[in-house]
Amino acid sequence: MDAVGAPDALAGGAAGHERLAELIPLALGTLAAGGTERDGAAPAGGPAAVAAALSGARPLVPAEGVGAERALAELGTLFAAGSVDPAEPWCAAHLHCPPLAVAVAADVVAGALNPSMDSWDQAPVATELEREFVTEMARLCYPDEPAPDAVVTTGGTESNLLGLLLARERNPAVRPVCGASAHHSVARAAWLLGLPAPVVVDCDDQRIRPAALETALGTALDGAPAVVVATAGTTDTGEIDPLPEVARICRRHNARLHVDAAYGGLALCSPSLRSRLDGLGEADSIALDLHKFGWQPISAGLFVSRVASDLDALTVRAEYLNSEDDTEAGLPDVLGRSLRTSRRPDVFRMAVTMRALGVRGMGAMVEQCCRTAAEVAGLIDADPGLTLWGSPKLSTVLFRPAVADDITVPAANALVARIRRTLLEAGTAVVGRATIGGRIWLKLTFLHPHATAADYSGLLGEILAVARAEMTPPAARAASAEGAVTS
Ligand SMILES: *Cc1c(COP(=O)(O)O)cnc(C)c1O
Repeated sequence: MDAVGAPDALAGGAAGHERLAELIPLALGTLAAGGTERDGAAPAGGPAAVAAALSGARPLVPAEGVGAERALAELGTLFAAGSVDPAEPWCAAHLHCPPLAVAVAADVVAGALNPSMDSWDQAPVATELEREFVTEMARLCYPDEPAPDAVVTTGGTESNLLGLLLARERNPAVRPVCGASAHHSVARAAWLLGLPAPVVVDCDDQRIRPAALETALGTALDGAPAVVVATAGTTDTGEIDPLPEVARICRRHNARLHVDAAYGGLALCSPSLRSRLDGLGEADSIALDLHKFGWQPISAGLFVSRVASDLDALTVRAEYLNSEDDTEAGLPDVLGRSLRTSRRPDVFRMAVTMRALGVRGMGAMVEQCCRTAAEVAGLIDADPGLTLWGSPKLSTVLFRPAVADDITVPAANALVARIRRTLLEAGTAVVGRATIGGRIWLKLTFLHPHATAADYSGLLGEILAVARAEMTPPAARAASAEGAVTS
């Protein structure tokens, strides 16, 4: 038996927590040291600087190990310094949330015990916890249904795949249909499942146009079986498809409806935002991501099914994991709860978090992000130097420097793209981009639950300053730089 403290000590067992008690403070120290070194939202210097920084810890696969303390200290600090930190308000490009401390702490417990969710004998309480948690979350989505159910996924991509898969299991000839602003994973799922490429329905302002959906189902598909994928919170703009109309049209044409609510779904937790998702309960299935609104470490997805029995399509038998006699003897059969086999207990941190905050606490955080988005949109709208794309429906704001309106589309697009890269390379901010109708916009996705609009006025100023510098001819830029040196 190795002494506690040896590099190969275990995380579990009677002494595991003692070794963790030594290593976790060290790990936390690297977060602090690396964060101080980075000093902001992103590492400065871009890909070259980040790659160069790694040279201090090579080789990563040495013949003789350096020991746990040294490896953790070196790589932990490098990792923290070279990461973008979504807990910095100016890290706001993507649906990339800052995880809650309670969720990360819960993950330590789950990691130490390492339950695998593919059989009850590897995860007794975790499977029970998962069953209860997903049932409660399914009821949140489908309060009026007698028996909704859900399974844990890696996120929207896997959930959308399941949405199409279950539709195909009901009818192998099913044709996918989605809006032009649907997530790319929908087309990918169709490809992976051997289904035809989705019929893409026109959008107005990034939302499915009901008349276009009517035509697609009625005329283009001419009564062929269909599964419609609508979106509640598009990735580019946070728009929500008109779900009640979409559901009505699907019913009329006997089409299945899957709603990709990976982004917007947790707005269900907010009494003031919930009505934006009206119609969601009419979907046959829903994708939810708790690693967006939900503030979980990746990954934390749910695929929610209106009717529990639809999930029976995932049933699979493997003698060593869920033999018939074990199941008959009362051991829960959990293998059919996922497409995966070995599977992390992501549900543990989700359950700890939801129990800690409650639906109300979660809803308040979603509201705060949406409020910040609305207020920042107001700041942008009031600034003559900036053009706002439109009022945010969730927590995404698109805008660009007003000067982009005065130059050609290619020049404007190049300018906006350069502004984003300049801020990223400097380590100042991580700002996103979205292309709408051939025009590139800057995108801020607000997922920081404590930030307020005041935290972003400086960023808008930085963006304007970069835009001005980019619009200055190089000769003038050089002259002004010289001026700055001599003055
Ligand atoms: C994030 C997102 C996805 C992809 O989800 P992953 O969790 O990254 O797999 C799909 N659809 C929408 C609308 C999303 O916002």
